[in-house]
Amino acid sequence: MTTTNLDRQHVWHPFTQAQTAPDPIPITSAKGIRLYAEDGREFLDLISSWWVNLHGHAHPTIAAAIAKQAHTLEQVIFAGFTHQPAAQLAHELVQRLPAGLTRVFFSDDGSTAVEVALKMALQYWRNQGEAQRTRFLAFEGGYHGDTVGAMSVGRGSDFFSTYGSLLFEVGLLPYPQTWDGDADVVSKEQAALAVLDTYLAQHGETLAGVIIEPLVQGAAGMRMCRPEFLQQLAAKLRAAGILLIFDEVMTGFGRTGAMFAAIKAQVMPDLICLSKGLTAGFLPMSVTVASEAIYAAFLGENFDRALIHGHSFTANPLGCAAALASLQVFEDEQTLAKLPQIEAWHRQGLAQLAGHPAVQHVRVTGTIAAFDVVTTDAGYTSAVGAKLKAFFHERGLLLRPLGNVIYLLPPYCVTQDELALAYQTIGEALIGY
Ligand code: PLP
Repeated sequence: MTTTNLDRQHVWHPFTQAQTAPDPIPITSAKGIRLYAEDGREFLDLISSWWVNLHGHAHPTIAAAIAKQAHTLEQVIFAGFTHQPAAQLAHELVQRLPAGLTRVFFSDDGSTAVEVALKMALQYWRNQGEAQRTRFLAFEGGYHGDTVGAMSVGRGSDFFSTYGSLLFEVGLLPYPQTWDGDADVVSKEQAALAVLDTYLAQHGETLAGVIIEPLVQGAAGMRMCRPEFLQQLAAKLRAAGILLIFDEVMTGFGRTGAMFAAIKAQVMPDLICLSKGLTAGFLPMSVTVASEAIYAAFLGENFDRALIHGHSFTANPLGCAAALASLQVFEDEQTLAKLPQIEAWHRQGLAQLAGHPAVQHVRVTGTIAAFDVVTTDAGYTSAVGAKLKAFFHERGLLLRPLGNVIYLLPPYCVTQDELALAYQTIGEALIGY
């Protein structure tokens, strides 16, 4: 039986209405930015396969590191035991994160990294005798994953209304999204901070933390905010003694042009969540990194002061080996130095689309570029997205608009010609809009 037939019979795909979606495309191999399909087609992976791939598919350094590790130590319980790849990776991450983020807790994916951050924040306060601090603030549009805690702080997204009865309440702040030539950004930022002030005045004593996707909200439609906003947010929260959680699951590892958005914005959060690019997209793994003050609050004689969290595959050695190899590739290929070039190529491509009546709110942060397609049904369920996606697939581009938002988030091995082709094809897709 063909892959498609087997898949149709037995597989349940994520975020997919199987009754109306086209059959999934069987991919047999991938190299660099290219995916190779069973039927001979090729696709340029311009979204890094759900934002995970960094250096290109099947990068030999990372593939070799995983293979070597698999022959040495594939897995060991991480309670009461440790191993060199995990300890080394924790060290390497701390070297690269903003100073002060020193304690690395391993978990499995972006959602669980967020769950861990929420639990750490809650228990940090409880362990210090402030058990009344149970509330979280998040941002409108924010997406933090699809486990229950992550969905709760993602209530500001369009996705999870079906599961409302499972979720806890969170307060929502406006995300002051901006774009090229936006004249109103400062007033949007001030409005968001004013909502925060009101919330602090009413609920400041019961607030545990604030979670934000810094610089770019991903699933909301690559909505971008300015470093200046993050700096003001952090200053207010520091003054109020409330924890700031950066969800850098998507923005981490170079996406915004710096290793982390926290570094680009020059803001140190109390907790940071990393996944996706952590293993360069090779294996599922995540970390939640905490400040030393947070870690210290969990020490004591009693077990119930400890963080009650851990999974079967916590700190899996294969994932750690992949992550270490990815950091090695950052050095070998001088990856961070390449990123401004990608940003410049985005700007060139977008300049060709400028002036098209359907192109609105053009925005670029580092390797991420996006714009809105003007339509009457803007939003995640916009019909424009499905139509454009089909067009792009036909033309050999893996682009997956978020509703009426077209975005590109390529692996860092993308060439100028590949991006130029992508923008040319996008231009053709927009004829008639
Ligand atoms: N946080 C952010 C900002 C994300 O973009 C995502 C996934 O897209 C998640 C969390 C959840 O990560 P995962 O899908 O690996 O659970």
